[in-house]
This record gives sequence, C-alpha cells and structure tokens, in this order.
Amino acid sequence: MISRFTDATAEEINKVMDRSWQAFHVYRKFPLKKRADFMSAIAREMEASADELVHKAMSETNLPEPRLRNEFNRTLFQLRSYGAACEAGDWLEARIDTAIPDRNPPRPDIRKMLVPLGPVVVFGASNFPFAYSTAGGDTACAFAAGCPVVVKAHPAHPQTSEGVARAILKATEKSQMPEGIFGHIHGSGTATGRLLVTHSNTKAVGFTGSFSGGKALFDWANQRKEPIPVFAEMGSINPVFFLPGKLKESAIETAKAYASSITLSSGQFCTNPGLIIGIEGPELQDFITALGNEIKHIVPATMLHPGIAQSFQNNRSAALAQEGVVTVSVSETLPKENQGIPTLASASASAFLNNPLLHQEVFGPYSIVIRCKNKQEMREVATHLEGQLTTTLMATAKDIREHEELVEALKNICGRFILNGVPTGVEVCLSMQHGGPFPATTDSRFTSVGADGIKRFARPLAFQNWPDELLPEELKNANPLQIWRTINNELTKKGIL
Ligand code: NAP
Repeated sequence: MISRFTDATAEEINKVMDRSWQAFHVYRKFPLKKRADFMSAIAREMEASADELVHKAMSETNLPEPRLRNEFNRTLFQLRSYGAACEAGDWLEARIDTAIPDRNPPRPDIRKMLVPLGPVVVFGASNFPFAYSTAGGDTACAFAAGCPVVVKAHPAHPQTSEGVARAILKATEKSQMPEGIFGHIHGSGTATGRLLVTHSNTKAVGFTGSFSGGKALFDWANQRKEPIPVFAEMGSINPVFFLPGKLKESAIETAKAYASSITLSSGQFCTNPGLIIGIEGPELQDFITALGNEIKHIVPATMLHPGIAQSFQNNRSAALAQEGVVTVSVSETLPKENQGIPTLASASASAFLNNPLLHQEVFGPYSIVIRCKNKQEMREVATHLEGQLTTTLMATAKDIREHEELVEALKNICGRFILNGVPTGVEVCLSMQHGGPFPATTDSRFTSVGADGIKRFARPLAFQNWPDELLPEELKNANPLQIWRTINNELTKKGIL
C-alpha cells in the first residue's frame, strides 16, 4: 500500500521504542486521576479538530460522513469512559488478605493488584479509522492501564492517523506527560510490523485486521526470547441460527433487518453476519426469497481501499464457484470501480460441511444461507464452526427449550451470544464482550471493547508483608482512593483499621 509518509527505519523504531521504555518508568507511577485527565485532554484536542479529522477520514476511507461522525464520537466516549473507569479502579482487581500471625503456620499480609505491562504497540484497523486506530480502543485501554503506546498507522488512512497523532501529542504536552508516552510510526509491508513486535522494549500488542496479519504478529511475538501477549482481533463470520418457531413467526420481517446488517458500511464490519443457518421448509424458503429481494435493491458502495475491494471480489467469486453454492441474489445496480456488490448465496449443509473454504470470511456485503435437513444436521454445522466474535440465535423460548444441545454447542464457539437481533452494532459498555475463541481473536479471555479491555495490558503483582507507608495508594489500609477492594473475601470500600 502506498502512503506519502516514508516508512520508519530500524534506527527510528529503536529510538521510538527506547523513548517509550523510558516514559514507561515515569508514567506507570502517575496517579489514576492523572491518567484519566490525560485521556480527557486527548478527547478535547480531537474534538477541537473534529471537522478536519472527519473530512480527512472521508477522503481516505470512502466512508460516509454520518458514519464517521458517529465513530468519531464513539472514540471520544471511549477515551473519556475508559479514563473514568481507570480512575474508579475496579479494573485493578485489588485483593487484600490481612495477616493472621497467630495461625499455625502464620498467614502473611498479602495484597494484590494489576500493574501495567510496559510499552504497547497498536496496529490501527482499516475499517475503523478512529475507534480502532490511532486514539482508538486499544490505545485508550493501554493509557488507562499505565502503558505508553506506539501506533503503527494503517497505510490506508495515514493522514487521518497523523492528524489524530498530532492531537495526542498536544494533549501530551499540555498534560505534562513524559515525551515518549506516545509514538507514531508509518510503514507499509511486513518489515515495520515485525521490527515493532520483536523489539525487546515492546511488552504487548493490540491488532485488528486480517487473519494472516494477526497470526503473523502473534507468531513473531511467541518466537521472541521473551514472548509477549498479542491481542489480535481477526476474522469472524458471525453465524446466525434460525430456529423453526421463530422462522414461522417472523421470517419476512426479519429479512429487512438482515439485509441492512449484511450490507451496512459495505459489509466491512467484523460483526457482519456472513453465515445464516436454517432448517429446510417453506418458511426458510420464504425468508431466503424475502432477503434476496431486499439485497437486490441495495446500491453498492465504495469499499475502504482498492486492496479490500479486490479481496472481496476474489473471495466472493471463489465462494460462489464452489460446488453446491447457488447465487440467490445480487444488487440490481452495477458496481463501479472499488465498489462491493451486495450478494446473497445459498448451499446445503452437506456442501458446507465438506468445504472449508465456505467457512472463511468474505469481508464485504456478502452472506450465505445454509439449508439443513433437520435439527441434527444443524447441530453438526454448529459443532464444525471455528471460534467467532458473535453467534446469533433467532428463536422463540420454546425453540430454545427444544434445541438445548445446539444452544450449548453455540456457547462454546462465541464471545457474544445474541438472541433475536443482528450482530452488527457493538455497544461500548462494561458488560460487552468483543472477543471470541481462536481464530476470531488470539485470546478469548479478554475483550477489546468496554473498560474491561484495560486488563489486557496489565498483570497481577502481589505485595507480601509490605508496611502500609510503602504500599501503593491503591492497597494502603485507609483506602485513600476510595476504590472497591476485596478484603478478606468481602468486597468493600472500607479501610482497614
Ligand atoms: P491487514 O492487512 O491485516 O492490515 C492491518 C495492519 O497490519 C496494517 O498496518 C498492516 O500493514 C499490518 N500487517 C498486516 N499483515 C502484516 C504482516 N504479515 N506483518 C506485519 N504487519 C502486517 O488488514 P486490512 O488492511 O485492514 O484489511 C485486509 C483484510 O483484513 C480485509 O480484506 C479483511 O478480510 C480483514 N479485516 C478484518 C477485520 C475484522 O475486524 N475482522 C477488520 C479489517 C480487516 P501493511 O498493510 O503495511 O502490511
């Protein structure tokens, strides 16, 4: 990919990572409130350049203004709400077990909390130029955890990334943060990413993008002398299971909502419903026909960059050419250059089960309906699916009771289990889980959306027998920060007498 910014050299990367390492030793000791204030300052600086940044992103990503304004506001909300969560301190998981000197053997005083990992390298996502790029969710979580950040700008929106980086640097100066708390690197091709991930000062990685990209970074991180965690969000086809009762009840109404979910932002969402599974019969046929009719009327849109448009074209053509796959419907409007044509396909469950290619993500406005002969075959499809960010169940309460084994199998493969809805639209809140079993992500124990994402960039440290005056504020007897702590198995804000 071509950008007008020059690729960082190995020497420049060394310099940035050294400054990041130095900044870590200063920033990690800053009070939680100071971190939160810094994150609010970034949001303010971005807000001051909102129009300029949104217009830059429009020209670089082809995404429409309302979508980008929404995403921009979501990014500010993430910075502010993760900052507030940082200050509230629940994420620290403070645990205190006070000493019992007269027990045999005596119990020592032990106090545990999460502490920052060190410099985090973030790879911006092409499909979220704000919310999952330079000042996006990974960056906000890392700052909240007490880690400096080095961003590798996505080469598809380098100007937007540069503009956001300037806002962060202004906030850094105004908030009197250590200089190396934020670094910004350009570079296309694998060399820059490899140098960043394998640098000895890098202690964790955040990534959103392709399976091949995320897996390459994960492998390099694990081959290091000191392996480090990589939180990579990669592909997902987000299966939707239509159970018979629900299909009977509202197949036609649901088709409209699904046509819009499949084609939203030209299907360029990690939660795009790329696979729909139902049991053969007149209701499923009605649903396929209704969904096909909706898809026909959706006008193609320009995709994020020519590379993604080309991949969509290739992957779509490959999927449609597989044995047993029929094209149900395509948009009646012919696509222009770099546009993705909305497409609905269909195949039998046996064709799907026998062909791994049909399990792969076609990133763009595409979905395939899988027709199962019966309940058993539907379950077989469920058990052959790889890890997913989301799984959706379209079902009545009776359906759920009658398909208990299917429901259990689905819980096993996803991070978010949706009932009677669409998977697109990810709420930024504490209860959100945006992550799933491999290959959806490289670590299903964590989320990349919501303030719990802060924990990705921290590790537990237990202090044993430390006197009160030498403990961190978070663990002192008086609880001066007024955070929630578990003391001798009781969750409380009380101090220790
Ligand atoms: P990408 O190709 O994975 O690139 C993401 C970032 O990682 C870029 O900065 C890229 O740099 C870098 N990178 C990729 N492969 C690398 C490697 N082997 N070594 C080092 N760095 C590497 O993702 P994309 O450009 O956003 O989109 C490409 C495809 O990814 C899409 O067609 C889609 O299939 C998938 N995608 C999935 C999601 C999702 O959420 N599931 C989101 C976006 C994209 P360079 O470009 O300079 O190599």
